Amino acid sequence: MTLEDLYREVIMDHYRRPRNRGALADANVVMEGVNPLCGDEIKLWLSIDDAGLITGAAFDGHGCSISQSSASIMTAAVVGKPLADAHAVIAGFRSMMLEGETPDEALLGDGVALEGVRKFPVRIKCAVLSWNTLQLGLDEHATAGGQRVELHHSES
Ligand code: ZN
Repeated sequence: MTLEDLYREVIMDHYRRPRNRGALADANVVMEGVNPLCGDEIKLWLSIDDAGLITGAAFDGHGCSISQSSASIMTAAVVGKPLADAHAVIAGFRSMMLEGETPDEALLGDGVALEGVRKFPVRIKCAVLSWNTLQLGLDEHATAGGQRVELHHSES
């Protein structure tokens, strides 16, 4: 099995058996993201406690396998982590997808499986949709002083 085959299997596994799928009742950051180019829609929920730990992360949505598996991978990568670690994972994923940086598997986990999407530039937005939406949600959370935040993001 080539690395490419392995990565394809990781993506399809997250697509068929998404992790952390479904609403999170006690979320204090609620986000919606759309990628009109492909028709991808995701909704993200995060619970962040007073100490800045992400105690819950969940998503729901529909769209292509890249967008949905990426959201599943993302929730798994940030749940249970302090905010600083989540920022590092997002930055690592975005630099891999957008700048072609060599990914750090220890940091990104299954996120490295999406590196091959770079070969299909039109699909990069599918892969980064949930991560960009999460970044905006964390930014809003930081400025909201503990208040519940909701936001909508559209890839343009
Ligand atoms: Zn898509």
